[in-house]
Amino acid sequence: MVTGGLSPRQALAQVQARLEAAGCPDADFDAWELFRLAAGRDPHLSDQPLSPAEAQRLEQFTARRAGREPLQYICGRWPFLNFELAVGPGVLCPRADTEVVAEAAAGQLKGVQNPRVLDLCAGTGCLGLGVKALRPDAEVTCLEKSPEALQYLRENARSALAGLPGQTRPAARVVEGDLFTYWQTLTPGGLDLIVSNPPYLTGEEMASLQPETAREPAMALAAGEDGLDFYRALADHYKAALRPGGALVLEIGWQQRQAVTGLLAAAGWTGIQCRQDYGGNDRCIIARA
Ligand code: GLN
Repeated sequence: MVTGGLSPRQALAQVQARLEAAGCPDADFDAWELFRLAAGRDPHLSDQPLSPAEAQRLEQFTARRAGREPLQYICGRWPFLNFELAVGPGVLCPRADTEVVAEAAAGQLKGVQNPRVLDLCAGTGCLGLGVKALRPDAEVTCLEKSPEALQYLRENARSALAGLPGQTRPAARVVEGDLFTYWQTLTPGGLDLIVSNPPYLTGEEMASLQPETAREPAMALAAGEDGLDFYRALADHYKAALRPGGALVLEIGWQQRQAVTGLLAAAGWTGIQCRQDYGGNDRCIIARA
């Protein structure tokens, strides 16, 4: 039990030990984040003992994290590239792996003025807003189906990029809709870039999720028995919406390079490339219409 009067060092050691006992994979990092969230200061930069109120907050956060609630949900905000996103129950947590996809996507827009960009299955909006952060002149639309996720998406479109140079508000247009039918509403050739981190887990992966991932919406993760349902729809239905030479940039699971490349090639996409994430795993597929 974290109580008032503990030194930051004592509190950190106790929280870390409890998170380790609960099986949390990065207990030292999480303990530091929870301390900072509870006390509003860096535990390594101050010897000031915890006040009773700070201790009570830290105790509550520790209990939640030990119950394997995602750290991002407890914090309520999470950094992505050079900005912060609102996040919580009902939406997929932004992940560092996805930053590589946002950077690859923005990289496809060199030489295009005011590029027209669509983020499908946007969730928090990390990809669409990530492109917008890197290319303030972009016109970004974010599509999302889940009503819970849409609340975070709307808030992030309104405020996540406020204060970044060159940004106007809102940073993106938010549309409620389903990837499997939304293509029918698009003007042929009207887009320069489509970016997406769709659900991509297989039935087998869904049956053996880490406890934290099991708290995230299944709707943002599950993609049919073979994990490819969304890539099939993307490959088959979204090429016409891009101008000739426009780019499709997708996050993929680390074992999906061949399968997704095959689907795209069969549907007539060209210039297909793969990029790796910071962990060296295949994470991003780029293709041209
Ligand atoms: N990267 C997530 C995971 O491994 C999956 C995200 C997704 O399906 N788009 O849990």
